[in-house]
Formats: sequence, C-alpha cells, structure tokens
Amino acid sequence: MIHSEMTDYRDNPYFNLFSKQKANQYTIGKSTYNQRIKKLNVLQRAVEVTYREHIKEALQKDLSKPVVETELSEIYQIVGDIKFTKTYLHQWMRKQKVKTPLSMLGASSYYLYESKGVCLIISPWNFPFNLTFGPLVSAIAAGNTVIIKPSEMTPHSSALMAKIIADVFKEDEVALVEGEVEASTQLLKLPFNHIFFTGSPNVGKIIMSAATKHLTSVTLELGGKSPTIIDKTANIDMAAKKIVWGKYLNAGQICVAPDYVLIDESIETDFINACKKWIKKFYSEQPENSRSFARIVTDKHFNRLKSHIENAKSLNAKFEVGGELDAESKYIAPTLVSHLKEDATLLQDEIFGPILPIVTYKNLNEAISYINAKERPLALYIYSKSKSNIKKVIAHTRAGGTCINNNVIHYANHNLPFGGTNNSGIGKSHGFFGFEAFSNKRAIVKQHTFGISEYLFPPYESVKEKLARLTVKWF
Ligand code: NAD
Repeated sequence: MIHSEMTDYRDNPYFNLFSKQKANQYTIGKSTYNQRIKKLNVLQRAVEVTYREHIKEALQKDLSKPVVETELSEIYQIVGDIKFTKTYLHQWMRKQKVKTPLSMLGASSYYLYESKGVCLIISPWNFPFNLTFGPLVSAIAAGNTVIIKPSEMTPHSSALMAKIIADVFKEDEVALVEGEVEASTQLLKLPFNHIFFTGSPNVGKIIMSAATKHLTSVTLELGGKSPTIIDKTANIDMAAKKIVWGKYLNAGQICVAPDYVLIDESIETDFINACKKWIKKFYSEQPENSRSFARIVTDKHFNRLKSHIENAKSLNAKFEVGGELDAESKYIAPTLVSHLKEDATLLQDEIFGPILPIVTYKNLNEAISYINAKERPLALYIYSKSKSNIKKVIAHTRAGGTCINNNVIHYANHNLPFGGTNNSGIGKSHGFFGFEAFSNKRAIVKQHTFGISEYLFPPYESVKEKLARLTVKWF
C-alpha cells in the first residue's frame, strides 16, 4: 500500500525501491544482536574470502592500485571495522541507564540507540570499497535499511559492489544503485531518514541543501587542505619518510593526505633532501615503472592536476622532485614543489594528487595564523619533539583529527571518531561513532509509582507556589 505522503514521489525512478525499504524498516530496526552479527559475518566473508581477488582486480583496473594498498587500505579496513563492531555491538545496543532527578521521584530513565530508518550512503571513488562498506557496516549494526550510490568514476569497483550487495542482501534491506550524478539527484529527492555522504565540500553543500527539504539528518565526510607542520625540533628524516608515504599512497588521492607542508625555514633544505631520498627508496629512480605507485583516477582529475603543475611553473615555483606527467597512463610523478607564490592554485584548492607544496615559516605563530586563515581542515599533522609546540598547535587550531609525528594513521583506529569540522565535514564515523551516526538516541522515562511532580498539577493554590519554590531551591 502506498502511504499518502509518498504519492509525491511516484515518478521518481527509485520510488519502488525506497517504498520497499520503508515498508521493511521496522522489521530490520527490531532485528536482534544475533541477527545483525549474522549479516556482518556474511558481509565479512564476501569481502575477505569470496570476492577478495575480484576486489583487487577491480581496483587494479580502476586506479592501478597496488595489491598491498588494496589489502591494507580497503580489505583490512572493512574487515577490521566489522570485527571491531562485532566486539562491541552488544554493548552499544544495550539500553543506557541514566540517573533520574529527585523531582521525578517514582520514575526511572534510560535511552536507546534505535535505527533511524531508511538511509542513503553516497560514496566517492578514491577508496571505493572501504568508503562504501565502512558506513554500511555502521548502518547495518544500527539496524537500518540502506540504499547505496557509489561513485561513477570507478566503474569496475562500482559494478563489483553491486554484485556483492545483490549476493548478500535482499533489496528491501540493502540495495546499490549505480549511475552518474543524476542518480544521486533523484535519490536525494526522496525522504530518507539519514544521508551519509563522503566526498568534496562543494557536493557536500548540495547534499545538505537537498536534505533540508525533509529535515533529513546528515553525516558529511568531506575533504579540504590538510596541513603538516614541521618545526625545527623535529626528526627530519623520520618526518620525511612518513610524509612521503602518506602523501604518495594511492597517488595522493586520499582525504587525509598531507596536502601541504609548513616548515621552519631553517630546516627546509634538509627536509627536501630527506624526501628525495625516501621517494627514491619507495618508488625507485623511475616511479613510472614502480609497482608501488598508483595512477590518477580519470582524465578529468589528471587534467585538473596538470593545470596545477602548469600554474606553478608559470609562477616560477621550484620543482624539487617530479613534475613529469603521462596523459595516456594518467601518471603523475611524486612531486615536491617549493618557492610557491601564495596565489598559486596548489595553495588554494585541495590537491588530491601526488604533488606536495612546501611553504616556509619563520616562527610557529606564523604557521598557526596561516592555517587559521584557511577553511578548517579534515586533518592537521605536527612533527615536533617540543611538547609545548605540540600543545600550542593543538590549542590554537581546529581540525577533524591530528597525528603527532605521523600522518594518515588516525583513520585506522576504530576507537577514535573520524570526520571533519565545518568545511571538512559534519558528524563522525567509525566504530561506535558510526553506529551513533546511524542511530536515533531515544530518551525514555518510565513511571513506576505515583510521581511527586503530580503534587504540582493544577489547580495552582498558594501552597503549590510554595512547593514550586522549594522544588527550584532543593531539587
Ligand atoms: P565528489 O564530491 O565529486 O563525489 C562524491 C559522490 O557524490 C559520488 O558518488 C558522486 O557521484 C556524487 N556526486 C557528485 N556530484 C554530485 C551532485 N552534483 N549531486 C549529487 N551527487 C553528486 O567527490 P569525489 O571526487 O568522489 O571524492 C573526492 C573528495 O572526497 C575530496 O574532496 C576528498 O577529500 C573527499 N573525501 C573525503 C573523505 C572523508 O572520509 N572525509 C574520504 C574520501 C574522500
């Protein structure tokens, strides 16, 4: 039966699918711990066993992703997320008892994490499996029905995910819709109970404005320019090694990649030399032949990065390493650029590719002001041996997450909330925080006996005024 409030959406291509999930939402919502664990187990088996080789193949075709990176940044992340969720789900699903004030004597209180209902997950292309199945794990754990719209930029991964989802779930519980932007646009017209979006801040604004129509809650996992500070007390070689790894992993197409380096000017040359050494060690003298280095996802993104390089060259920036491109294979060499003018596009837009700009500072306050003049980042990294410098940077900046003397790895700790702030995102994901994002916290008060507050019901004789005053004073 079609509910009257749904008739507006009859022409929507996803109306039938949405209606099926809407009709099924309470059945899935009241699923038990054991039933949810069973679903997570089936998904785990699909990723870890049945489709593991297919996942590697799809990512090879879409991104030339090295197998080790697929194992660690896709399969391990999803399987790790499922294992973590299975360990704690019982605890998360329990009713959470809280205190009840004396003024409510005769009652007890608790809150529940109940499913939100029908959820939409829109995911990007850079870690297609991880960033689609990761939120899905949280949505299933919280007892939701889900429609997924993955990115059209990685078609082999998207087709494989469609197969996995159809294999593992019935469509009235979890379904995957493939398609371009138009598919998202149509889906966004439907009255979902929650939207979990991972992608760029610009599209995040489109998602949020579509959500206002139905006052749908949103989790927006966005990106932006994530700075890395290296102060003069830092271990330069260790910093260079970690930054070279964090920046050129997946050819820089990572939301938490160090976008640019802010370094004390007295150690710039040493840092550049150390980076040169590590780039050579990781990817050899000819990174274009290295099996450890990925490619740019599409021609559009290749051309976007190419124009950053051309812009930097036109402004006489110094290419310390790299700068070479090959359009046919969508290869961009691991690149290090210094002496950039502030209006260079590399210092304005999120780079999302294997190009690392280096900006120098004279004192730490200058570095902090530089960061705070830009949008709030998803990640901020600091390399330092000085406790007071580390403390100062954390206290005087805002970011979704921070690593001290490392980068990227905070993403992999499921005990931590993951997400941005303002332009880099709204809401958090991973582990409990992902479960929470897909849950409604329902407050419940249970009246057991006569409640003393009933003494204060109308009619309001003068004695009640006194009682009200006493309540304010003592309870
Ligand atoms: P994107 O915003 O272009 O696309 C993301 C998704 O939105 C895709 O599924 C796409 O089909 C859809 N989409 C695109 N335009 C749309 C529109 N006009 N209306 C509705 N839907 C639309 O992002 P991307 O290029 O896939 O990914 C790169 C961006 O994502 C970067 O900014 C990166 O920092 C960010 N990102 C963030 C995280 C995170 O966890 N915070 C993770 C990965 C990527």
